[in-house]
Amino acid sequence: MSVVLHKNDLPDDLDLGKIVAIDTETMGLKCHRDRLCLVQLSSGDGTAHLVQMTDSSYKAPNLKNLISNSKVKKIFHFARFDVAVLTYALGVQCPNIYCTKIASRLVRTYTDKHGLRALCNELLGVDLNKQQQSSDWGAAELSSEQMNYAANDVYYLHKIKARLDTMLEREGRREIAQSCFDFIETRAALDVLGDYSDIFEH
Ligand code: MN
Repeated sequence: MSVVLHKNDLPDDLDLGKIVAIDTETMGLKCHRDRLCLVQLSSGDGTAHLVQMTDSSYKAPNLKNLISNSKVKKIFHFARFDVAVLTYALGVQCPNIYCTKIASRLVRTYTDKHGLRALCNELLGVDLNKQQQSSDWGAAELSSEQMNYAANDVYYLHKIKARLDTMLEREGRREIAQSCFDFIETRAALDVLGDYSDIFEH
């Protein structure tokens, strides 16, 4: 496993392939209030690329091209949050989403534990350290602990997706999963728009 730090954008010549794991770290949970500090990306090859956002103009053309490219599948864990943050901060669409949390909820109905740590543990036998979850991601210099924590959130998503896809297929829930993934951009847009807790509720 290795971590590469980039400032404000991905390098021009970096090709992360057609399925990219993505996670974000922010100053907090409200996209209007709390700025995007870090975007972690991995092609699933054991390398995490960390894009540290020190410039709040969020120019980042290479990152924006990747996020908005409908031919690139983006794997998130709890995509609803990351997609709201990314679309709001970068001002781009984020088509072609896969969410490991949604997939887990659809097939792992024998448990209520759908956190990334639980998935890594049960599906991959990996013990994930979540100690740096609440830390100052806006710091000018990220600590090695922060960078390793951030990288951990994207290292395993391809493997988790593969395991969940097998289960979705086995249980006949691949299509409904895809429909849920297709709705995530809209769900995130509602979050950005305002206080729609559940658009389908009575
Ligand atoms: Mn994270």
